[in-house]
Amino acid sequence: MDSRKPRSWPSFGADQSHRVIEATRRLEDVTRLISDWVWETDRDLRLTFVSERIFELLGILPAQVIGGRLSDIGKFVNSLGENVDIDIRRPFRDRPFQAIGRTGEARSFLVAAVPCFAEDRGEFIGVHGIARDVTDLKEAEVRSQRLSDAVESLSEHFALYDGEDRMVLCNERFRRLNRAVIDTVRPGVPFEDFIRAAVSRGLMPQAIGREEAWIEERLARHRGAGGSFEMERSENRWLFITEKRLPDGGTVIIGMDITDIKKAETSLRRSEQLHREFAADVAHELRTPLAALHANLDILGDEKAVVSLRRDVGDMTRIVEQLLAFTRLDVLVIGDDAVADLVSVATHVAQQIAPIALRAGHPIEVIGAEVPVLVRGDAAFLEQALRNLIENAIKYSSRDTLVTVQVRAGDNPGISVIDRGIGIPEDQREAIFERFRRADRRAGGSGLGLGIVKRIVIAHDGEINVSDNPEGGTVFTMAFPSLSN
Ligand code: ADP
Repeated sequence: MDSRKPRSWPSFGADQSHRVIEATRRLEDVTRLISDWVWETDRDLRLTFVSERIFELLGILPAQVIGGRLSDIGKFVNSLGENVDIDIRRPFRDRPFQAIGRTGEARSFLVAAVPCFAEDRGEFIGVHGIARDVTDLKEAEVRSQRLSDAVESLSEHFALYDGEDRMVLCNERFRRLNRAVIDTVRPGVPFEDFIRAAVSRGLMPQAIGREEAWIEERLARHRGAGGSFEMERSENRWLFITEKRLPDGGTVIIGMDITDIKKAETSLRRSEQLHREFAADVAHELRTPLAALHANLDILGDEKAVVSLRRDVGDMTRIVEQLLAFTRLDVLVIGDDAVADLVSVATHVAQQIAPIALRAGHPIEVIGAEVPVLVRGDAAFLEQALRNLIENAIKYSSRDTLVTVQVRAGDNPGISVIDRGIGIPEDQREAIFERFRRADRRAGGSGLGLGIVKRIVIAHDGEINVSDNPEGGTVFTMAFPSLSN
């Protein structure tokens, strides 16, 4: 038997007393290593020894508690922190024990003990015990519990990945959303494994048919973490996902369910579409009878009442045309290769309108049109926008005033229409671009013209501005990105 013992436990060569001293020292060392304080009681469970370290931990001098009981130092507790009675005569391990620390803080220990019996008669003579300070561990546990409680209480889907892109934690909502791939929604599983599993189970409808490309894009976005985006999930669900990079290289993923918002958006778009179609139908149906009315009025001569009727029918025709134009603009997309020359747009429209303008007492001049000014654009739509601006310039200024169409070249190409009319009060300059908004309700018009202009300009990535003409009147300027940009 003895030959199997480690040779150094204790030294066989030494004499009896030396071996006892050596064994005792060794026992003390080991005890110190595995515990924070050591205690012993007599047969009446009164403390006979408490190691000095208890002073550092609890501010108690051993002499203060010798002769007392363990319960004078602290109490055994259950997992809820409630006091429990323990028969310390029976051996036990890792029993939670709580005491008050030096600075009044609660300290947590795990206590172990064994009963001791007299060697000769075998009677119970006391208890030997140790206690390990687990306060820091406990606090870390509480902090981590607090974090997971907070994460669970979120109404969003939440997942946290570490610097190596492995899951640290997620909430129940996130797990439920991904229950079809629950094996990949566990701490330690890389984000890529989760995404691949979700795609292969068909949880990402946007990936269907282009799985590998979609996965690459999703991973690139995830690695770049710093943005928000919408993502479709199976069963027509939509999420608004925000990914944020943490200072330690980890990533937080927060997903908000926007299915209801998406549904409302779709039905709104559908209803807008229906309205547009209805308006287009009505406008279309009105065109023919209006044209017939116009023709009939032409035959009736130039009596005062007829002239007035003709003007009203003219206004109505314009409104109907604008309504039709407006309903068509929603689908306006300017191709990347489309190029328009602002000079020819300006001269063409001016030539078309000039006879009507002159009849209304407004000469039109085009300036700044020496060389072509090219922009990415659709000439027909740009002409439509410019026509609306010139018609307004005529409509909102008195007879015998000049309308100037100015083409601007350079880095910020554009066209301005300058009139000498009634002007537009500063506080109405934003509102006039809204549909059916008119600064002066008495003048005949639909309130659609500037809405059309704005839509066309925006479709060209341009801007429209209104300012005062220093000579009196208004300047409308459409500006477009330069073709070289
Ligand atoms: P409409 O002219 O058919 O009423 P618009 O959308 O073209 O509709 O114009 C909206 C409003 O902006 C007009 O009702 C008018 O009050 C104002 N407005 C537009 N152009 C001018 C202008 N050149 N001078 C003064 N007011 C203008």
